[in-house]
Amino acid sequence: MSRLYGASQDPGTYAFVALGSNLGDPQRNIHMAAHDLEELSEAPMRASSLWETTPVDCPPGSSVFVNAVVRILPRPGETSESLLVKLQKLERRYGRETKRILNEARPLDLDLILFGGEIHATGILTLPHPRATSRRFVLEPLNEIAPDLVFPGEIRTVAELLAGLPPDPAMRKLGRIQTRRS
Ligand code: ADP
Ligand code: MG
Repeated sequence: MSRLYGASQDPGTYAFVALGSNLGDPQRNIHMAAHDLEELSEAPMRASSLWETTPVDCPPGSSVFVNAVVRILPRPGETSESLLVKLQKLERRYGRETKRILNEARPLDLDLILFGGEIHATGILTLPHPRATSRRFVLEPLNEIAPDLVFPGEIRTVAELLAGLPPDPAMRKLGRIQTRRS
């Protein structure tokens, strides 16, 4: 099958952000943070469901996570780095402290998965997010809003990458994120 970058598969000019929380009230944190992210979007935001997921590579005894993915259209003049700064400011507003232990519990984690088709590799930002395509807690929600998307440097679509990942039997869908415009 030919794998041309058709309009439906290219990330275009959208930014995709993965949200995660396993501290405090994770569902509420993700709902509220999604609404904050909508404020950064020039066009109606597209949002996945909320998913309860098993902690991956986390300290023993870590609480389950709630994860989601949203697609926003960055405002004119927004760059990947300026958006990352805004994401980090939001993380702090939700009470996230500077990392002490690898993958410790956090009220809010915001990862920039894609910024259009940009490939970026600096000390502060790597795009596409290097672990996104191997994480079910990213691909499962992403598959709800962009199954045909192809990451820069990838051949397979999101749906195809997801089909190749090991299952997470404990993963379950919670509610949907209500966006202001949905
Ligand atoms: P993780 O999300 O893997 O649990 P952290 O959120 O603590 O880890 O990692 C934050 C660091 O990762 C920040 O210092 C940030 O500069 C860097 N980083 C690199 N690329 C990205 C990206 N695409 N999205 C978010 N943070 C990134
Ligand atoms: Mg992060």
